[in-house]
Amino acid sequence: MTASERGSTTDWLSVARSLASNVIGPRADEMDRSDRLPEQIRTQLGASGLMGLTAPTEFGGAQANTRVVASVLETLSVASAAVATILSVHLAVATGPVVDHGTIEQKRAWVPKLASGEWLGAFALTEPSVGSDAAKLATRYSRADGGFHLRGTKMFTTSAESADLIVLFATRDPQLGPHGISAFAIPKGTTGLSVGQRLNKLGIRGSETVELVLDDLALPESAMLGPEGQGFRIAMEALAGGRIGIAACALGVARAAFEQMRTAAAQDPADWKRTAVARAFGELSAASALVYRAADVKDQGLPFVEEASAAKLVASQAAMHIASTGLDVAGIAGARSGSPAERLLRDARVFPIVEGTTEIQELILGRSLVDRS
Ligand SMILES: Cc1cc2nc3c(=O)[nH]c(=O)nc-3n(C[C@H](O)[C@H](O)[C@H](O)COP(=O)(O)OP(=O)(O)OC[C@H]3O[C@@H](n4cnc5c(N)ncnc54)[C@H](O)[C@@H]3O)c2cc1C
Repeated sequence: MTASERGSTTDWLSVARSLASNVIGPRADEMDRSDRLPEQIRTQLGASGLMGLTAPTEFGGAQANTRVVASVLETLSVASAAVATILSVHLAVATGPVVDHGTIEQKRAWVPKLASGEWLGAFALTEPSVGSDAAKLATRYSRADGGFHLRGTKMFTTSAESADLIVLFATRDPQLGPHGISAFAIPKGTTGLSVGQRLNKLGIRGSETVELVLDDLALPESAMLGPEGQGFRIAMEALAGGRIGIAACALGVARAAFEQMRTAAAQDPADWKRTAVARAFGELSAASALVYRAADVKDQGLPFVEEASAAKLVASQAAMHIASTGLDVAGIAGARSGSPAERLLRDARVFPIVEGTTEIQELILGRSLVDRS
C-alpha cells in the first residue's frame, strides 16, 4: 500500500515500531554479519509506506512533516542503524532533490516509484579524493548529442548498487568551483554506469556502500535536475535537511545503547554504573531535544541549518559516547565480537562522518553563528 493510500491519519510511528520489532530487529545481527540488506526487509520497507513518507500526496507520498520523519528514523535505528540510514538517504537526499527541483515531467516519472517503495534512491556526491570540500568535484560532464556525457568516479555511495535512481553531481569545469556543478538523476541500467568496489565498512553494515564508475555515460537533456550550474546549491540544501534525518539515526543508536547500558547496570548494580547511566541519560536527552528542535524549526519554515548541524554534531557524539561507555558497563560480555554492544559502537562511529563530518558541522555552525552576529 502506498503512503498516500494509507491516508493522512496513519500513525507512522506505530508503523515504524511494528516494522522495527517484527521485521528488522530479528535480522539486524545477521545483516551486520553478512553486510547485505535482506530482500524481506527491502520488500517490507517498501510495503510499509515509509519510503513515501516525505513525497507529496499527489505523487503517492504521505507528505509527513520532519518531526514525524525523525521519529520514524530514530525508531528504525534503535533496531538497525543500517536500515534507518538507507531510508534517510532515500527520503532526504534522493527523493528530496527530485521533489524540490525536478520538472513536472521528472516528478511524474520518478517520484511515484520512489514513494511507493518500488524504487530505491541514492545520492552520489563524494569522490575518491573529494569529500568535505565538495566544490572541488572532479567528475565532469560535457554537452554532446543533445544531452550530456559524464566521466568520473564516485565513492562511498549508499545503496547505489541496488538503487533505481541516483542523484549525482558533476562539474562542467573544475575551475568554476561550486558554480560549475550540476545535478543529474540517473536511472538504473544506464549504459556507462557501473559499480566498482563494494566497500567493507566498520559500521552500518547491511547498508551497501559502493564506488560508482561513470565511463562516458550518455544522458539525455531531461536527466539534468534543476538549472545548470545549481548542483552545488541543490546538494547543500538536500544535505542540510538530510542531516536532521542522520541525526535521528544517530539518536536511535544512542537510545539503543542507553537501554542496553541500563539493563546491564540493573543486572549487576554498582554506583559507578548508576553514574554512567545518569550521564548517558543526560546526553541522550540533550541529543533528542536538539533533533526534534531542528525538525520543528524546519517544519515551521524557518532557517534550520544551524539547528540541523547542532543536532547532528551532538547526536552523533552522544551515540559514540553512550555506546562506548555501554561496553564498560556490560563488562567482558560487551567486548565479545558480535555482541549487540559491539555492533552499536561500530554503528555509532559512522555518524560523525556521513553527510558532513563533525569538523564540517563545527565549521558550518561557527561561520553561521559568528558571521551573522
Ligand atoms: C558509511 C558511509 C556512507 C556514506 N554515504 C554517502 C552517500 O550516500 N553519498 C555521498 O556522496 N557520500 C557518502 N559518504 C561520504 C561522506 O559524506 C564523506 O566520507 C564525508 O563527507 C567526509 O569526506 P572524506 O571521507 O573524503 O573525508 P575528508 O573530507 O578527506 O576529511 C578527512 C578528515 O579531515 C577533516 N576535515 C576536512 N576538511 C576540514 C576542514 N576544512 N576543517 C577541519 N577539518 C576538516 C574531516 O572532518 C575528516 O575528519 C558516506 C560515508 C560513509 C562513511
